[in-house]
Parts: sequence; structure tokens; C-alpha cells
Amino acid sequence: MSQTKQVSTFQCAVCNERVSFNPRDPTTFESKTPHEKFFGMQLTTYRVSHMVGSERHVNTIIVDHMDLFRGHKDAFVEQVKGEKAEQQLWLVSQKPATLESHPFFDCVFIMDRDDSWVLEGVTSSEVRILELARLLAQRVEEAERVYESLPDELNFTIADQDLRVWTKGSRIACGALKGPAAFGSLSTLLKETIREPHRDAIPDKRLLVLGLHAIAVNPKIDSSVLLKLVGDDRLFSKIDFQYIPRIPSIVDRVERKFDFAEEILVPLLSGKASVIDLLEQGQIGRIQKVFDMLEHVERRGLLG
Ligand SMILES: [Zn+2]
Repeated sequence: MSQTKQVSTFQCAVCNERVSFNPRDPTTFESKTPHEKFFGMQLTTYRVSHMVGSERHVNTIIVDHMDLFRGHKDAFVEQVKGEKAEQQLWLVSQKPATLESHPFFDCVFIMDRDDSWVLEGVTSSEVRILELARLLAQRVEEAERVYESLPDELNFTIADQDLRVWTKGSRIACGALKGPAAFGSLSTLLKETIREPHRDAIPDKRLLVLGLHAIAVNPKIDSSVLLKLVGDDRLFSKIDFQYIPRIPSIVDRVERKFDFAEEILVPLLSGKASVIDLLEQGQIGRIQKVFDMLEHVERRGLLG
């Protein structure tokens, strides 16, 4: 098992088809991002797409140093455009489901003016989101004409909705707030989400929704926690830990400091769940403690 494979395969998260690509051949993938070590593994993020009819399925996956698939970061369907002429906005269909209510926000979405998509984080049944997005894009354009350079942060009122707006190139992120309590956290989350350097990469809805969940639990959440959640792809990887029999003793040692060690470390070290899976499965309210615990395990060298 020591030879490096030339081809990596994984299952498309949209249509379940097997997709192959060659990590040594940049024409077979769209982007590649290497990461620092994570629990002894050297991980890389690849963005790979394939065409099905008039749809492009885009998968972002995590691969280890043996070119083995370790986890999905996200997947979405892109409608392939014909002519550039009159572009209609379209809603990105991507799991998980959009939040239908939030204690601090009436609606939250991100859009791209050039690529014409809208990605919803929190939806409001009273608002036609695509219409709101279209009007918002016009307002941003208006502001672009007025200002020498567009401020990073803007406020607009559209149809009685007070919108806080952040822009970056063709990207616009926006939220209607119920009050000021979570403004700082939303600003951190959305600014980081539209900072994405890959031109054609739609931000990950899993992370947007998780971030909004974390803010629902703690509106004053430490910004470094949100930045790590959105920025650290290693959190999507399932771990390949070589010393399974040692897990109980590691858990035992960590449990003295963090009383929920078993719920996190057992599924993580036995390769059953990624950190993101665990956050999605009910640990999001303890995100800060989860990160503290993982750092404690890495720093103490408990796995070595
Ligand atoms: Zn597919």
C-alpha cells in the first residue's frame, strides 16, 4: 500500500456518480489548496467538477498524502449558462437546508453579481429573495457610481428591509438584523465567507449555516472561532489514526480537562466522523470548547 496512486476517485455528493481525477494533473481539477498537518495527516483540498446534461456538479473534497479521499467539504449544482445577455439570478441548491428562523436575523444571503447566483443562509417566508437580491445589486451598482471606492460595509433599505451589506468584488453579502446583538459576529462571518480567492467558487453553505447556528447560540462568539470554522478545511477530514487500542486511554486523559471528550474523540479518532460532522450533529453550541480540546490534544502530543 505504499505506492502513490495516480488517480483519486470519490462519489459526487450531488448525483452519486463516481468521479475520478489525477492530483498530479491540474487539467483534471479546478483548484488545489495544501494544508498544515492535521492529526498526523498531510491534507489537500481539491475542487473537482463534472458535467451532467446542462448541469455542472462541483465537489470540494479533502484528500490525504496517499491521494485517498478523506471527506467532502461541499458540493453544489451550477446551471450552465448559454448566452451572457440577460442573466437571471438563480438560487444555489446545496445542502444543508436554509435556516427558516434565527434569533438574531430575519434573512441572510450571499450573491455574486457576475455569476448571478444567490446562496441563502436564513430565509424569510415573507420575502421574495431573488427579487430582493436583484434590487440590492442595483443599489450596490448605484453606490459604485457615487463613491470613488466602494466602502466594505454599506446600509440599504429596500421595501422596508434594513439591510447590512458587505461587498468584495462581484460578491455581496447581506443580512437583515432583528437587533444589534449579533452584528459583529455576522460581519466577521460574512466578510470571511466572501473573501474566497477562487473566482468561480460558490461559498460553502454548510459552513455558512453552521456559523449562523454558532451565532444563534452565542451572539458574541470569539471571532477567531468563526474564522477557523470557515477557513480550516482540515475540519472536513476523517482521521486515519493508527493506534485504535490507545483511544480509551487518550480519552481518559483528556476527559479530566474536558468532560465531553468521549463524544468528540471516539468518533473522530476512529475515523467515523469529521469535526464538521460532529459540529453538525449537535456540538455546534460548544464549538469553542471543541476547538480548545482538539488543540490541547495536538499540543500535548497525545497521539504520537
Ligand atoms: Zn454529479
